[in-house]
Amino acid sequence: MNSQITHKCLESGSQKFITFQIAQASLKGSTYMQLKLTFLGTGTSQGVPVIAKEYPPEFLANPKNHRTRPSVLIQTLKTTLIIDTTPEFRIQMLREKVMWLDAVLVTHPHADHVMGMDDCRRFCEVKGDAPLPVYASEETMNHLKRIFIYAFRPGPHPSGYFIPDPHIITGPFTIGDLEVIPLELPHGHITSTGYVFVYEGKLRLAYLTDCNSVPDHAINLIRDIDIVVLDALRKHPHPTHMCLQEALRTAEKIHAKHTYLTHLTHHYDHDVDQATLPPGVWLAYDGLHVTCSENRIEQIHPQLCRMFQQ
Ligand SMILES: [Zn+2]
Ligand SMILES: [Zn+2]
Repeated sequence: MNSQITHKCLESGSQKFITFQIAQASLKGSTYMQLKLTFLGTGTSQGVPVIAKEYPPEFLANPKNHRTRPSVLIQTLKTTLIIDTTPEFRIQMLREKVMWLDAVLVTHPHADHVMGMDDCRRFCEVKGDAPLPVYASEETMNHLKRIFIYAFRPGPHPSGYFIPDPHIITGPFTIGDLEVIPLELPHGHITSTGYVFVYEGKLRLAYLTDCNSVPDHAINLIRDIDIVVLDALRKHPHPTHMCLQEALRTAEKIHAKHTYLTHLTHHYDHDVDQATLPPGVWLAYDGLHVTCSENRIEQIHPQLCRMFQQ
């Protein structure tokens, strides 16, 4: 493993690249770690707490009730990618000390999933003003081109600007050592893209947010997968998201080893509601890490700090 890292450093001849490889190596401190999932944000479109609302002090005292907009970071030895760039993208990158991104995958163009994208400019800059691959469905990509028209225009771009390299998804694709299978998910009147990750030939992780159901063919594909992340907006039904009972029924069918619920409103009080969930199902929270290797899935609970003090 170390010789591979050294070899890549010699090939690149770049100090920046060497720094990145060292960061990646230290991230692999645990020998059994192969794929790492980090919940950057787990909140619904407004975040939690919402603006201009009073909350009980006990609710605010729990850092797990402070939810930024939904996004995950996925890392292996060779690959670092993010799903969605939320309005808190910059804060999430700083909090998790992310030094490098190989690609951005986008689920759909709602504001809570894309509005931080311009801050990807820093990851272009650290690569020497290189374009950053952005993967999305054709419909989503068209919206990204409309929203970030200045970035998607033909170059040359000034140094330090966001330079997207658009990849329209037409089927499974590969990023580094990860195979990615896209899944179309119904999300009200639009379609959201779910992502399934195959690592070392095995289905490891499915990230299925912003959907009012998971189609049967998708459930059949990912049944018994190691980790699934599901939209579970709130306890009462919603037309464009799964509610808790719908998510739990879907989780039962998928039968993953670990199920995490995300895109959560303030109707969830983390510790209170976590206690009601079946074994193997967790409410995700900002900063939670999950590592996945051949025979082991492990949660790593960070030292939590509240974003908003009251
Ligand atoms: Zn959303
Ligand atoms: Zn949405």
